[in-house]
Amino acid sequence: MNYLKAFLMLMFIIFISVVLFSCDSKEGADLVLLNGKIATIDKNYPEAEAIAIQGDTILAVGTTEEIEKLIGDNTEVIDLEGKFVMPGFYDSHLHFYSLGALKLKLDLRDAEYWSDIVNIVANDVKNKKPGEWIIGRSWHQEKWKEVDYISVDGFPTSEELDKVSPDNPVLLTHASGHAIIANKKAMELAGITNETVTPPGGEIVKDENGNPTGVFKEDASSLIYYAYNKYLDKRSPEEIKQTDIQILKFADEECLANGITSVTDASSSFDIIDLYKELYDKNELNVRMSVMIYESNENLNKKIADYKIIGYANNHLTVRAIKQFIDGALGSRSAWFFEPYNDKPTDIGINVTSLEYLEETANIAIDNDFQLCTHAIGDRGNKEMLDIYEKVMKQHPDKKDLRWRIEHAQHLAKNEINRFSQLGVIASMQGCHATSDGPYIVKRLGEERGKAESYVWRDLLNAGTIICNGTDAPVELVSPILCFYSSVTRKMSDGIEFTPEQKMTRMEALESYTINSAYASFEENIKGSLTPGKLADIIVLSNNLLTCSDEDIPKTEVLYTIIGGEILYQSK
Ligand SMILES: [Zn+2]
Repeated sequence: MNYLKAFLMLMFIIFISVVLFSCDSKEGADLVLLNGKIATIDKNYPEAEAIAIQGDTILAVGTTEEIEKLIGDNTEVIDLEGKFVMPGFYDSHLHFYSLGALKLKLDLRDAEYWSDIVNIVANDVKNKKPGEWIIGRSWHQEKWKEVDYISVDGFPTSEELDKVSPDNPVLLTHASGHAIIANKKAMELAGITNETVTPPGGEIVKDENGNPTGVFKEDASSLIYYAYNKYLDKRSPEEIKQTDIQILKFADEECLANGITSVTDASSSFDIIDLYKELYDKNELNVRMSVMIYESNENLNKKIADYKIIGYANNHLTVRAIKQFIDGALGSRSAWFFEPYNDKPTDIGINVTSLEYLEETANIAIDNDFQLCTHAIGDRGNKEMLDIYEKVMKQHPDKKDLRWRIEHAQHLAKNEINRFSQLGVIASMQGCHATSDGPYIVKRLGEERGKAESYVWRDLLNAGTIICNGTDAPVELVSPILCFYSSVTRKMSDGIEFTPEQKMTRMEALESYTINSAYASFEENIKGSLTPGKLADIIVLSNNLLTCSDEDIPKTEVLYTIIGGEILYQSK
């Protein structure tokens, strides 16, 4: 082993010498960063002061003195003045298109009352022609200060929206993405009456007289989306494409400004992947991306072989994963549990995709050497999915290093925890969900289950599980720094810590956001640490995330975002 290490070290020295010797010594590196506090996330040399970049690759990491020797006539030099440097955040679960599309929708996140939302819609009506749709997003009834509405199933009804918007259809999505509220006009266009049959895997919320209230959960919301899409389809193909491009560019800018250099896009169609390729070809997207394909099994069977894409456009685009869903979310009571919800004892949640269908997807994945990444939130959803993974893996003992993932892994029964590491399944968790759901977890799940089962990342780490981290934006803000804060403090907005015994250490949280996310997309050899030879995806932050106080973490600013050696964002 020692011989191997010595040999590798020798090879590394030869490599650096060759690189330096071969580039005209006057030219030196393209970019050097000096006098920083660098967390390399490389266990061989965890700390450094300076870094040199050649092309899109890290050339060397070391002391300022060592790296200064690589400065040539044309080298760009940045004096970091003690600032903190780390590999760019790799957000392992966000929705790139939806993130960009936020800019085109009413933002309802900060509403404190239902009446605030009604007012926002009323104002928007003034700018719209009759018949034009009003789309809003990210409302959450648990975040409002009081129940200032007629409540059915805990949700408002469309009544107030109908008063302010009689002629414009309104569609407002829940922050979880797992429910919507629509007004009467939208329901009329969708042909909804009290006779409408609830589609499987969904729920049309109805009042005591059997009339739809406007709230549609899970797959039932597709009834309203169908009407909305019919309206959108009237646009010309060129109009549609230009809007999509605008949306993707918004998302790109948001990521850069938040120190994100790579994302895993947690569900895209083949069409959007085609558009990604086109934009990367034209250098119009900057953030690197790995994509989970979200298509029907039928479409996957037809096209999946054509969509295995690895390292496209200089390591900007990789597609080797499939997305699936077994259940919904906690906020909308559609996450699938063994025992009923504490605040709705008739309900255990919703199994949104049949187990037979999911097993078929798992077989498509394993036959085509794709990862399977399944959304599972409730304890039952997680258990059933691990069962399917285990069954399909056992049927294919020849297939190794699959790195299948559970997205969210949010509520886990005790006996499921060891199964992740035993099966080599990655827990793709979002630190920020724990602290934003924290205030109503006990209400939904009861004291004992809520505290024992929820966001148990300490238990998972202790059992040897790989956890990758992300924001699930636009469900949460696209801020890895706030998500990091949640991961290491478990502090909710009221300052109270939600089950603090489950905290990650600072280093574990940084790893979850860098090298583990890279591992979770088979990219740990090119991303995730500041190691010579890897891609020069680097960020500079105003605070040292390993040593600053807890209170200072959320105040941390992104100063530079560098991708492939290019400075693509710089704070003003
Ligand atoms: Zn998601």
